[in-house]
Amino acid sequence: MERTTCLIAGGGPAGMFLGLMLARAGIEVTVLEKHGDFLRDFRGDTVHPTTLDLIDALGLREDFAKLPQRRLNDVQIPIGGRMVQLATLARIPGRHKYIAMVPQWDLLDLLARAGDVEPSFRLRMNTEAVGLVHQAGRVVGVRYRAKDGTEGEIRAELTVACDGRASVLRAAAGLGVRNWPTPFDAWWFRIPRHDTDPAGLIPVVSADRVVVMFDRGDYWQSATLIAKGSDAELRGSQPVGVIMRDLAEVVPWLADRTEALRSWDEVKLLDVKLDRLDRWYTDGLLCIGDAAHAMSPVGGVGINLAVQDAVAAARILGPKLLSHSVTTADLARVQRQRILPTAVIQGMQRIAHARVIRPAVSGKLPVSNATETPLALRIFRRIPVIRSLPVFLVARGVIPERVPDFARRA
Ligand SMILES: Cc1cc2nc3c(=O)[nH]c(=O)nc-3n(C[C@H](O)[C@H](O)[C@H](O)COP(=O)(O)OP(=O)(O)OC[C@H]3O[C@@H](n4cnc5c(N)ncnc54)[C@H](O)[C@@H]3O)c2cc1C
Repeated sequence: MERTTCLIAGGGPAGMFLGLMLARAGIEVTVLEKHGDFLRDFRGDTVHPTTLDLIDALGLREDFAKLPQRRLNDVQIPIGGRMVQLATLARIPGRHKYIAMVPQWDLLDLLARAGDVEPSFRLRMNTEAVGLVHQAGRVVGVRYRAKDGTEGEIRAELTVACDGRASVLRAAAGLGVRNWPTPFDAWWFRIPRHDTDPAGLIPVVSADRVVVMFDRGDYWQSATLIAKGSDAELRGSQPVGVIMRDLAEVVPWLADRTEALRSWDEVKLLDVKLDRLDRWYTDGLLCIGDAAHAMSPVGGVGINLAVQDAVAAARILGPKLLSHSVTTADLARVQRQRILPTAVIQGMQRIAHARVIRPAVSGKLPVSNATETPLALRIFRRIPVIRSLPVFLVARGVIPERVPDFARRA
């Protein structure tokens, strides 16, 4: 039987940041990641100013600067064929006045390399946590299955579930979960990008569709929102070319790319969820990130929230793990620290689902096709506090967490 002090299931943003920070304190950490690499297209790419601050504090600024990246300084939307600035990050406080768009696999690789130099850090790829190990009613580790078929148990003083929105560990723990039905799923696909295209993040909202385009340099990673559960019917009833032809109606500079999608195989379905555990912990187990609160893609905030959970967990639990004295009350402190930002952001996402996305995916959004900027948008852009608050919340979060001294290398 293998042993570690902190077992982290899931090598996404929450798991990798937490693993690195705890290892920097000298705590024995094992991170299990079920895939063999981090190369998966569906991961969001947004690295927010608070995460950029964290990267700086961890002493990784120079390595991060070498990753391929684009900077998102403002958000523009197409109206009447032209691009209108919706919001800018120029006025948010702090050093980083932009969101970095970095392929997430590059960021996770960087964290894996930083972890590699810490003697107490172990990352086991191709290893899936398949269940919890209990002893006297307490979680004392996980059972795992490796890709080569090996199965085993790893015992730990603390297990942290960072295994995302389909978390097997939170299900195994039987923690109560509150679900909010989401009105949409997402089609995820690539569109070639030309140097003459606008840069950054482009949300496209029209009467009957919402599309978000992420600038990845030579292509746009794009998400078209569709009504929940409508994927099979839509695929069966129309050619794939409809996606780009519809998009080009609202974004005229895409008219030369209407043939960009050739097969439905290029369009991946992402099942969108929004939920939150009532209690994020049980004796010996803590859930953070999407495992505690699955986030909708609205606002592109799920990664930031997951990373901020990891910072809070490292700061609160690091000293306790070092002295081998973590209690259930300590795990409750992590939830108390993070529940407000999570509830506020999920509340904003629910409002956006009800007010914008549900009407849009059912073709009922009252959007004018006029070339004039709509009145509501003109008011939004003119009143500084209304214009700045959503940007501030998206960019910096509700409670930016303080990086623990033991993890700092700046
Ligand atoms: C369509 C869509 C687009 C999105 N776009 C954005 C965006 O642009 N920006 C943004 O901030 N947020 C976005 N989000 C939300 C964001 O993806 C999540 O909130 C965020 O990734 C949560 O991070 P995490 O580390 O908690 O979990 P995840 O990123 O889901 O990472 C979980 C990790 O655990 C691994 N894993 C899973 N099960 C196991 C297991 N049993 N054993 C071992 N390993 C396991 C997985 O392979 C994965 O590496 C989007 C969500 C959706 C659905």
